[in-house]
Amino acid sequence: MRRPVPLPPGPLRGRFAPSPTGALHLGNAWAALCAFAASRRSGGTFVLRVEDLDPRRSKPAIVQQQLEDLRWLGIAWDEGPDVGGPRAPYVQSQRLERYADALGRLETFPCTCTRKEIRAALAEIAGAPHGGGARYPGTCLHRPPAPDRPAARRWLPPDGVVEATCAHYGPLRAQLRREVGAVALRRSDGVFAYRLAVVVDDAEMGIDLVVRGRDLLEDTPLQVAIARALGLVPPAYLHVPLVLGPEGTKLSKRAGGLSLARLRAAGARPEAVVAYLAEHMGLVPRDTRLLSARAFVDAFDPSRLPHADLVIDPARAIEEIVARGSSP
Ligand code: GLU
Repeated sequence: MRRPVPLPPGPLRGRFAPSPTGALHLGNAWAALCAFAASRRSGGTFVLRVEDLDPRRSKPAIVQQQLEDLRWLGIAWDEGPDVGGPRAPYVQSQRLERYADALGRLETFPCTCTRKEIRAALAEIAGAPHGGGARYPGTCLHRPPAPDRPAARRWLPPDGVVEATCAHYGPLRAQLRREVGAVALRRSDGVFAYRLAVVVDDAEMGIDLVVRGRDLLEDTPLQVAIARALGLVPPAYLHVPLVLGPEGTKLSKRAGGLSLARLRAAGARPEAVVAYLAEHMGLVPRDTRLLSARAFVDAFDPSRLPHADLVIDPARAIEEIVARGSSP
């Protein structure tokens, strides 16, 4: 018997928050569809947020392409950069003062460690009897920052176990201070960390349920800890299995691996993309050749989702998706 997945009572405010670093691929489409379906099923509101924090990796032209790809797929949002809404702006590069304000409310310390120094310090700890573990060795906690170098701001998570829950993958526990140590919330070049911005934005945008790929499961306790330290109530989380390439490799946005644009150019119908994903993730019967995003909302049942990722062969996936297009 399937266990019902405990989602908060609706209507839920959900969101999809892509980073404009490359064309959306099949894995992004899957996460977007699940987030869209979870909020629509609850009779809630769906928000689109652009996570362009890193100016070196984000490309403004990609934002338009991503919005177009999502619309092509049949996903509609009630609030977002192009349609506005009561919690605007929906673009992270326009929300920097909010992150600065949040950072100022946390107890952080300046850190001028270089990557090389961190690696060397960790290698030294790893050789010691109780060493290893923490990814930031705490060097700048015990020394004044180097005056000639730009400083990052680091935050030391609380001691003890931090618990979080994913509605699909279950309880998460992390001893953050021991396992990750002090985390950078603003880099030395001034760029705010994703994990600070995501917590601030989800709270300020009133997001009740975060639906996203399983790759962010591990970071979730830390996001919960940051939210609590800021006096915010963290949202509920539902992580979904990933769509991976051969041998479990990531479908990279930047490499254009199985992008929606490529599928479109190959003549795929959006309903074929949705049906392919829904079928391979076990949400609809095997003979479902086409499925609209609207019908995906009705088919979406988190208790039927697998825990294992979907591993695909890109060339075969394109073939299979395009072949479905000829159906009435
Ligand atoms: N911007 C992140 C990404 O594109 C997603 C963040 C989230 O859903 O929490 O991977």
